[in-house]
Amino acid sequence: MKKNSKIYIAGHHGLVGSAILRKLPELGYENVVYRTHHELDLTRQKEVEQFFDQEKPEYVFLAAAKVGGIMANSRYPAEFIYNNLAIQTNIIHASYLNRVKKLLFLGSSCIYPRLCPQPIKEDYFLSGSLEPTNESYAIAKIAGVKMCQSYNRQYDTRYISVMPTNLYGPNDNFDLETSHVLAAFIRKFHEAGVKGLKEVEVWGTGVPRREFLYVDDMADACLYLMDHYDGIKIVNVGTGKDISIRELAGIVARVTGFNGDFRFDPARPDGTPQKLLDVSLLHDLGWKEKTGLEEGIRKAYQWYVKHIVTTQISEF
Ligand code: GDP
Repeated sequence: MKKNSKIYIAGHHGLVGSAILRKLPELGYENVVYRTHHELDLTRQKEVEQFFDQEKPEYVFLAAAKVGGIMANSRYPAEFIYNNLAIQTNIIHASYLNRVKKLLFLGSSCIYPRLCPQPIKEDYFLSGSLEPTNESYAIAKIAGVKMCQSYNRQYDTRYISVMPTNLYGPNDNFDLETSHVLAAFIRKFHEAGVKGLKEVEVWGTGVPRREFLYVDDMADACLYLMDHYDGIKIVNVGTGKDISIRELAGIVARVTGFNGDFRFDPARPDGTPQKLLDVSLLHDLGWKEKTGLEEGIRKAYQWYVKHIVTTQISEF
């Protein structure tokens, strides 16, 4: 990308999109376009085609998606499959019609089979059955990867796909029923501290293992790969290190200053037992994360207190 290239971020309000939007001007990219959901409904093909025709972006970060944690995915599978298929299909095809120079598609580590060997190599893609709690979302993301690869083969486009591990940070979703675990913990432990509670409920057994990447690092990786990667193969983006949900609870408790106990609720789903990405390809390409887990959780917690807690107080 040149500093004056026109860059479109689809999903600039979301966790990853907003991090890319913060990062681009920091690195001197000033010609960035984006639209709110109100201005442009990405599930409507005509609107998307008109937008591309008008704006003619040269580079596209496809970070728009309907996302959610384990409960949201199990409860609203139709919304997850419909919205994601529609959004990505419209954007990828409009990019082709308007000769976008390069597109980066954000996938997810849940595209990999539920029980594949750990750490998960890119080669395990489509080698087994998926985790049922987020199958609809995963199928949509798999279709997105295949669509990018198919367009590259038939139309000679340059559409790359990256598979982030679990992300967290500013602009995360802190709704307890639909969020991912780290945002849920930040909120639960903070509120428990404020209310002086002795226990915090942790879903499942605490045994599953997950890997977490701070979203500003994810944005950095996206910009890096946009400039340094042109392969057909998907690229994992993570740290290559995982921890159990119980250990994660311990770190969030420390960061938020909560001194009580955890109460595990095995009636809630555990989901996939382990999700740890093999990041050798990413490391070979020359990228590595900068933010340690505890440091990232501290930053995310500061953001939560400043933007969510303070706003809630001022709303009363
Ligand atoms: P997943 O990575 O797709 O399974 O999605 P999540 O981030 O929602 O959940 C990760 C793990 O954290 C699962 O084993 C959940 O059961 C566990 N977990 C524990 N407490 C919570 C919570 O309060 N919210 C969420 N979303 N997950 C929790």
